[in-house]
Amino acid sequence: MADMTGQHAVITGGGSGIGLATAQLLRGQGAQVTILDLADGADQAAARIGAAFHKADVTDETAIESLAELLEAHTPPTILVTCAGILQRTLRPEVLSWGEWDRMIAVHLRGTYACCRSFGGRMVKRRQGAIVTIASVAGLGTGPLHGYGPAKAAIAHLSKGLAAEWGPGGVRVNCVAPGFTETPALDRGLSAGALRASRLEAAAALGRLVAPQEIAAAIGFLASPAASGITGAVLPVDAGYLVAGDWAAYGGLREPLTDTP
Ligand code: NAD
Repeated sequence: MADMTGQHAVITGGGSGIGLATAQLLRGQGAQVTILDLADGADQAAARIGAAFHKADVTDETAIESLAELLEAHTPPTILVTCAGILQRTLRPEVLSWGEWDRMIAVHLRGTYACCRSFGGRMVKRRQGAIVTIASVAGLGTGPLHGYGPAKAAIAHLSKGLAAEWGPGGVRVNCVAPGFTETPALDRGLSAGALRASRLEAAAALGRLVAPQEIAAAIGFLASPAASGITGAVLPVDAGYLVAGDWAAYGGLREPLTDTP
């Protein structure tokens, strides 16, 4: 297990799901963790794992900038993980409202950019830091998510650009692209009937959903000194969802052979 003693990780959306699993992992490895989230109850989730908490909306760049200034004055953050996110309904573009589309871009792309700008900019001045952003398989392929998908594609692109921009300043920027992950957000999609677990499982090479702890493990690795030579990477953690897709043209994934050919 990595020793993250002496590190201070800021995790947006750390009150639930992937962000909370990441906060738990890093706390267990000895890091100081500060969670930024806007949900009711996120403060209690933070308290349960010994993390500090600030109520914040990542789309409010003024509030994010103030928080970055505040934390810099106390314990300068060495890690930023941008997990804040919301899932989109699978509506056709003709009926997807401008309000919902704008919110997708604002929370994911603008929110990620605002946090990277405020926290990453300060890391560069200190020549020390690791950022992990969160995209999605929905941003690497296509699906009926016409705001969410493009926003996630842009996050992967942004992360590579920031990696090039800030590499000379000693700050690494990587991106994790989760597949369908068992979090409260996905549960809400499944309960609403927008998604079916059996279909999602069948579409992945490993035949299952991803656990939030598996995403957290990848984030924790990329944020740790063990990944000191990695920057600008976009890492799918998707139980093989992306590699399985093209097999549909050949009749889908096959069962393993049970006897020698
Ligand atoms: P989640 O709902 O369990 O957690 C997301 C957290 O983000 C919540 O605590 C929420 O309050 C917070 N949040 C939302 N909007 C915010 C804002 N404007 N400011 C601050 N906090 C905000 O969801 P999750 O499944 O853990 O998703 C985490 C990230 O992973 C998201 O970016 C999501 O798009 C991405 N992702 C999830 C899946 C999946 O299948 N669960 C797949 C691919 C990508």
